[in-house]
Amino acid sequence: MPITVTTLGTGSPLPDPNRAGPSTLVVAGGTRLLIDAGRGVLMRLVAAGALPMMLDAVLLTHLHSDHITDLNDVITTHWVMSASPTPLHIYGPPRTAEVVSAILAMLAPDLTYRLAHHDDLTWTPIVEVHEIEPPDQFTIGEATIIARSTDHRPVEPTIGYRIEHGRTSVAIAGDTVPCVGLDELCAGADVYVQTVIRADLVELIPSARIQDILDYHSTVEQAAQTATTGGVGTLMCTHFVPALQPGQAESWRARAATHFTGTIILADDLSSVTIEG
Ligand SMILES: [Zn+2]
Ligand SMILES: [Zn+2]
Repeated sequence: MPITVTTLGTGSPLPDPNRAGPSTLVVAGGTRLLIDAGRGVLMRLVAAGALPMMLDAVLLTHLHSDHITDLNDVITTHWVMSASPTPLHIYGPPRTAEVVSAILAMLAPDLTYRLAHHDDLTWTPIVEVHEIEPPDQFTIGEATIIARSTDHRPVEPTIGYRIEHGRTSVAIAGDTVPCVGLDELCAGADVYVQTVIRADLVELIPSARIQDILDYHSTVEQAAQTATTGGVGTLMCTHFVPALQPGQAESWRARAATHFTGTIILADDLSSVTIEG
């Protein structure tokens, strides 16, 4: 059975009319996994042919707001569209339970209204949180999940995931600089999804707050170097900072291609790659 990787959102914290926030869908055989839940995730999830009730789990790389801002939409829609009490499984770093509790608290008025209005809706959202302390390995449906620490300090811990299904594997990092855990996830992976920045362009932006991002993200060159170290087949770049503008793609690609000779995808929302098992 194949693995299909679809970038649902390829934007960053900076609002972009054409790119939703960071989120990726991995379909491994019959198992659907959502990695992160950024701005507009459900619009793109539906466009990719899935609904929240069809997800086997949500995996969070870290708790930066751009990666979880629409988790509330996943939770609420999963709840109101489920025909019977069904748990939503959310895996993430320590403090994930705290975030989910706060989301449910925010939704308290909505839960009250819907429970009062729908006679057949007799339960509140059932969210099962699984906090992960990397290194860890576990199974979800048909997929084996390998979790490793990545380096996005002071956000700590951050988690990268390797999703294996049969002989196929996908490494998905959130925001991170190159590190040992990332190399372990990427070793021999068919696809490696990495959030990337362009240091040369960021350095031109006269904002101290923007300059701060330089020390905890992979540049597109570093992502390509990690891909080469791991011997991966396809590098999928996402979460571009600054936003990838029309006409710039070749300059981003050239910087990656200097360090990596495999397939390079500068992902748009709903870019997809399938690896046959
Ligand atoms: Zn981050
Ligand atoms: Zn981010």
